[in-house]
Amino acid sequence: MNKSIECIFCRISPNDILASNSTMLAFKDKFPVTNGHILIIPKKHRQDFFELNGDETQDAFALLSRMRQSLFDNDKTISGFNIGANCGESAGQTVFHCHIHLIPRRDGDCEDPKGGVRGVIAERQKYESN
Ligand code: 5GP
Ligand code: ZN
Repeated sequence: MNKSIECIFCRISPNDILASNSTMLAFKDKFPVTNGHILIIPKKHRQDFFELNGDETQDAFALLSRMRQSLFDNDKTISGFNIGANCGESAGQTVFHCHIHLIPRRDGDCEDPKGGVRGVIAERQKYESN
């Protein structure tokens, strides 16, 4: 599938694009979890991360890395990141155009960050020994 007219991420305004490479682009999440939260998406409509082809997967990692560096360079309060992709409704996906979240983290931005992305199921965020 190329572009989908009903898909909001197929209609991202060129003005909102922060950076891109041959197959992927980056823009700000409209409802950021933390300041600087970025989404990385394929230019072509793909339903989720597992639909990316080899070139797109490589480009996704390259762009993630570039955006991480750019966030670091521009905001010295950033001290970590969460990256993640929700794949499927049961995993929490709400926009069905593949996107990878790049979420900057800062010391003290929540009460206890331990477990990070394990928090997709809040009560399982911490594992037994932590
Ligand atoms: P999901 O739950 O599918 O992993 O994440 C969808 C993400 O898209 C959410 O973090 C949400 O804040 C973001 N989002 C939803 N609508 C828009 C929009 O119109 N523009 C932008 N830039 N982000 C959006
Ligand atoms: Zn789309």
